[in-house]
Amino acid sequence: MAFEQPDLSRHGIGMTSQRTRERLIQRLYDEGLSNARVLEVIRRTPRHLFVDEALAHRAYEDTALPIGHNQTISQPYMVGRMTELLLAAGPLDKVMEIGTGSGYQTAVLAQLVERVFSVERIQSLQDRAKERLAELKLRNVVFRWGDGWEGWNALGPYNGIIVTAAAAEVPQALLDQLAPAGRLVIPVGAGELQQLLLIVREEQGFSRQVLDPVRFVPLLNGPLA
Ligand code: SAH
Repeated sequence: MAFEQPDLSRHGIGMTSQRTRERLIQRLYDEGLSNARVLEVIRRTPRHLFVDEALAHRAYEDTALPIGHNQTISQPYMVGRMTELLLAAGPLDKVMEIGTGSGYQTAVLAQLVERVFSVERIQSLQDRAKERLAELKLRNVVFRWGDGWEGWNALGPYNGIIVTAAAAEVPQALLDQLAPAGRLVIPVGAGELQQLLLIVREEQGFSRQVLDPVRFVPLLNGPLA
């Protein structure tokens, strides 16, 4: 698979941050992430570029951080976990992401799959994410400003779909847009804690696995903000 590597040389970071990054990778490994390619991509993706400068010093902590508009950049562990689940049955060609946010998960995916289709309802977040991916020369991503409940039917179906906000129920449109053997990783639940689900399109119908308890911001309904 051919994909561009982020140009880290232009974002030179000191020895301290390099150590901090290595510590994060060790921690993710200790917490159970095991896909070497996923860990390597997280190691080389400059997460400090995806948060406000004032928060950059916390970028390599394993924690969600605010990105404005009441939204958060996902915790690195959760980015790695969901990416591993998506890739667990082999390499993927087309992956749709719902909830671009900062674009960090997008950047990780873009280095591991052929093409990423990313949907976000808040235009200003999407604009910043686009700039960051362009800066990192990740060119295999297209963006749609729209409602993730509807997916992106025109460019589907997708071999993988990842949703980075919690849905009260699994959106029917996303099931419809899964290719044969396609995998959907989605936090589902209406309360503060939700469950991470892995749904796979089988020859007949869908299989459904309930995985970890998780905490995401809600997948919102209604008009775009
Ligand atoms: N993966 C992102 C997570 C952002 S938080 C990151 O690591 O930065 C969840 C994102 O989902 C927010 O940007 C929010 O605006 C977006 N979102 C919420 N409801 C949505 C919907 N219905 N359609 C598209 N995006 C939505």
